[in-house]
Amino acid sequence: MRIEDILRHSPLSSLETEVLLASLLAKERTWVWTHPEAQLSKNQEERWRAWMERRGKGEPVAYITQEREFFGRMFSVDRRVLIPRPATEGLISVAQAWLKKPANNTTEIDAGIVAVAKVLHVAEHIRTVVDVGTGSGCIAISLACEDPTLTVLATDISEDALDVARTNAKRHGVDTRIRFLQGNLLDPVSDLLEPFLLISNPPYVPSERTLSPDVDRFEPSIAIRAGADGMDVIRPLLEAARRHPSCCGFILECEEAQIPLLEEILNS
Ligand code: GLN
Repeated sequence: MRIEDILRHSPLSSLETEVLLASLLAKERTWVWTHPEAQLSKNQEERWRAWMERRGKGEPVAYITQEREFFGRMFSVDRRVLIPRPATEGLISVAQAWLKKPANNTTEIDAGIVAVAKVLHVAEHIRTVVDVGTGSGCIAISLACEDPTLTVLATDISEDALDVARTNAKRHGVDTRIRFLQGNLLDPVSDLLEPFLLISNPPYVPSERTLSPDVDRFEPSIAIRAGADGMDVIRPLLEAARRHPSCCGFILECEEAQIPLLEEILNS
């Protein structure tokens, strides 16, 4: 099989086909479409067929290639963690701006999805960030890589997820700069004294919402769904943030429709 034939006959979108082929051949995507004549070895052909079968059964491309790009870097992923979403990259830019100048604001990062930023206490020069529910570690690691002066802590309730996050931190050379802590919400940082910004892409999808079957069947539901109104994690997280004396503010990914519920918690 030649690349050209695969690209022509693939039942997948050209993006998915290219990403899978690039990973199979350990090349860049640009290489794939500039080498239509390249021939797959017997072994590569066999793996390609197996991958197409997995994709045909709905398995997301990122779990097949075992990686996904986020904010310009590749992250190892598997079924223990949520696949990083492009929308979540918006949280990184919002956090960078917030650390320069803390402010309350809401930014649309995808259709109906927002990054909500709030100031809880005014503090000078916040240099510590706590990423709650770090999953693959994509938020914590991107922030640490982008700003070498930041101190980053990352928590997750799942030890399995933290394993993936630690692998990614090593992959990007920031494993000595990020403390990964197992536990619920802010519990692992209850003693943290320095002023910090809380950042999180928590599970926020209401339980009855229909998602694509690929998401529902393959990605960890604990990372996505959060009760009838999708607020089962956000609610205790915000309460913990307000109680924590060093939490100076937060940046949270959620649905636009959840903003009134979030304000209600903050005003209670
Ligand atoms: N922080 C990770 C991400 O944004 C995982 C989030 C989650 O598991 N809900 O992709």
